Amino acid sequence: MVRYVYFFGDKHADGDGSMKNLLGGKGTGLAEMTNLGIRVPAGFTITTDVCTHYYEHNKKYPEQLEGEVKSNLKKMEEAMGARFGDERNPLLVSVRSGARVSMPGMMDTVLNLGLNDDTVKGLINKSGDKRFAYDTYRRFIQMFSNVVLGIDSSVMESILEKKKEERSVRNDNELTYGDFESLVDEFKDVVRKKRGIEFPSDPEEQLWMGISAVFESWDVPRAIIYRKLNKIPENWGTAVNVVSMVYGNMGDTSATGVAFTRDPSTGDNGFYGEYLINAQGEDVVAGTRTPQPVNEISRKNPDDISLERVMPRVYKDLLGYADILEKYYKDMLDLEFTIQEGILYMLQVRTGKRTAKAAVKIAVDMEKEGMIDKKTAVLRIDPYSIVQLMYPAVDIKADKDVVAKGLPASPGAASGEVVFSAEEAEEETKKGKKVILVRIETSPEDIHGMSVAEGILTARGGMTSHAAVVARGMGKCAITGCSFLGINEKNGEITVGDRIIKRGDIVTLNGSNGEVYSGYVSMVTPEINEDFKSIMEFANEFRKLKIRANADTPEDARVARNYGAEGIGLCRTEHMFFKGDRIKAVREMILSETLEERRKALAKLLPMQKSDFLKLYSEMKGYSVNIRLLDPPLHEFLPKTEKEIRELSDIMHVSYERLKAKAISLHEVNPMLGHRGCRLGVSYPEIYEMQVRAIMEAACEFHNSGNKITLEIMIPVVSIYEEIKLLKELVNKKTKEVMKEYGVEFEYLVGTMIELPRACMIADEIAKEAEFFSFGTNDLTQTAFGFSRDDIGSFLPDYLNKNILKTDPFIELDRSGVGELMKIAVDKGTSVRRDIKLGICGEHGGNPSSIEFCHSLNLNYVSCSPYMVPIAIISAAQASLKDLSK
Ligand code: ADP
Ligand code: MG
Ligand code: MG
Repeated sequence: MVRYVYFFGDKHADGDGSMKNLLGGKGTGLAEMTNLGIRVPAGFTITTDVCTHYYEHNKKYPEQLEGEVKSNLKKMEEAMGARFGDERNPLLVSVRSGARVSMPGMMDTVLNLGLNDDTVKGLINKSGDKRFAYDTYRRFIQMFSNVVLGIDSSVMESILEKKKEERSVRNDNELTYGDFESLVDEFKDVVRKKRGIEFPSDPEEQLWMGISAVFESWDVPRAIIYRKLNKIPENWGTAVNVVSMVYGNMGDTSATGVAFTRDPSTGDNGFYGEYLINAQGEDVVAGTRTPQPVNEISRKNPDDISLERVMPRVYKDLLGYADILEKYYKDMLDLEFTIQEGILYMLQVRTGKRTAKAAVKIAVDMEKEGMIDKKTAVLRIDPYSIVQLMYPAVDIKADKDVVAKGLPASPGAASGEVVFSAEEAEEETKKGKKVILVRIETSPEDIHGMSVAEGILTARGGMTSHAAVVARGMGKCAITGCSFLGINEKNGEITVGDRIIKRGDIVTLNGSNGEVYSGYVSMVTPEINEDFKSIMEFANEFRKLKIRANADTPEDARVARNYGAEGIGLCRTEHMFFKGDRIKAVREMILSETLEERRKALAKLLPMQKSDFLKLYSEMKGYSVNIRLLDPPLHEFLPKTEKEIRELSDIMHVSYERLKAKAISLHEVNPMLGHRGCRLGVSYPEIYEMQVRAIMEAACEFHNSGNKITLEIMIPVVSIYEEIKLLKELVNKKTKEVMKEYGVEFEYLVGTMIELPRACMIADEIAKEAEFFSFGTNDLTQTAFGFSRDDIGSFLPDYLNKNILKTDPFIELDRSGVGELMKIAVDKGTSVRRDIKLGICGEHGGNPSSIEFCHSLNLNYVSCSPYMVPIAIISAAQASLKDLSK
């Protein structure tokens, strides 16, 4: 027969640690503590199965439940030596919800259940303390009315406040027996008025009302929203815990508190916590009285009174329990306890929430202490949270004035003066100022401004817009899609609602949650410490995927290497075109009418690219470097202002009108699907020839000076076999030529980016030529869905709200569509070329879930922004470990 109720008490529990799904987190913890011989007030847990049954059967309980509750209540009475509803020696209980994972949306706990006008006399009889008994009674009515009867807590709260004012006392502890007695009557009156009922006085009725309220709270909007946000399945259900009351409000030898077995913010191995004398559970969080530190080391103020000092024996017991529990769970724990007249009771245990820094330290320390192995240590780290360690963050404790909110496009935090253009950003930073670049959206021309700004804020664009991708690559904080901003560059003003931010005003960006604050906000800076290095070393032992970085400059490459990158997975050569004066030569090349003119301009670019490549190779000695030939539509480089065109016409000795006409002729309706990628190489082979020459001359010199790298030359946007065939020939021919000039030979690979659905479908043909595939999943996602990543911001919120999409496919790789295309490409590619090198260089390369998918596809490597490398390392190791445990 199915069992619906599990008992715990008298050093024995029916449940155990393996039953978390059935008993919920709280219920399992109470059972395990009981079995470990820890003092826990007796009680029982009604299983999550009952919750599921309740919702599947039109809100009816299974028939046998009533009987099981009755018999377990009897066991509780025996264990506690009191009786539920008894007028001389009443047992009181708390009713507590408890899902598998802690869920803030769920019902609050009701304490002191079982009291009425008769049993309160029993409580007086038992305690010999009228004041305590009536304090407990009014607490019960107050909580039950709020949590079960749904009466706004402020109603009774303000009656209580008024009482305190009348008696001019500061807190409830100073109120008298008489005050509490009259509060009981006043609260009952509120229930009559607000609900039109007498406050339920039958303890059994109270109990079932409490139980139903817990199950009902599984289905309230805030709980549903929380589950959606945290991907908690609807059918998990919650358990209900009914626990004998112990009283922390029985005077100065009683108390209630919470503690952590290690410091949840730093991870330090010490005991931390807070407690309140003469109080019950809810007082600690209510904030009406200031909790005191549990021990002497965590005292902050001279008048703090620690538990260690006032109740040394109880404190020792608490430490003893913490030790037993930490050794048993082998993790940092969050404990809730109550002390009744000098006796300690444990009421909850769970693994403690912690900052990323603490998570790393605790995992590494516990491995050193021999408590856990390296695998467990690595699996303990939430890769998403590692971001916290890589970037400065807004201090959570600081005062903030939020002016707007956008998308948290690139993590970190930054403060600076508002500027509206890349030029302004450069000018102001030259004067030594720190600036935040605010734009409607950014384009490749803004790179120089972005690179000097502290942070970037745009009104448009999604999580993979230009601003977002570039900022992430630079490890710079950015907020995009902040549609509240009315940007008026001319007036140097931003309007947000009825507020105005002017050029030069200070703002602070919080790239972790998308908030924009006015003024400076204090920050905490990251530190890459020994613990961090240790956890990376552990992870390196287990991962199968290699980790590379997307890097275009020697600086990026150095950052990437420092974080442990094993090569460059994508060097976007066009980013080099915006440095300094180079753009002029680039424009000259693009606007040339004749091949000869173009060659002349290209000749100017050649030495610049070559020297960039050389520096990049030096940073990546011994590793693979993947260089992509020119990819973006040429119009991105075109001069836009009259001034720019005039300047160029002087350099090129061509009339303004002719240049302008040429620029207009290059305009495209849909440039992302236009004359770009390998199509440029087909139309203007001389461009690719120059790039190959620069790459290879640099590589030959590098080899000749006794160094090595493995070069991969990548041809973008291929979707037709003939494209790769033609361009591979071009690369090989040019390379041969250069190698001959230098008298050196070395291996290199020519391959392609797989970023169009057609390329996936004919990957077997492409693989006849391509020696590697690098999945460009940004474009592959754009073209598979037909979503423009720069415009997705306008409809993605609707798609997420209406559950049409579960996540942004530009952030988390869409396994069923885009992933399936990748799988086809991998299968077809390897069928023709068994040792074809496979990698990914889209933004997904830094996303833990996408990395797990790449692992399952057996790719050789993932490539991500330099600052994402540690996240990728942890994710890749976790993917291997999860694989092994299958
Ligand atoms: P939450 O899930 O919000 O932590 P709990 O069910 O743990 O809610 O209850 C909150 C607090 O109420 C506990 O930390 C404890 O202080 C108090 N509490 C709960 N049950 C009892 C009990 N049986 N006796 C005394 N205090 C209790
Ligand atoms: Mg709790
Ligand atoms: Mg692309």
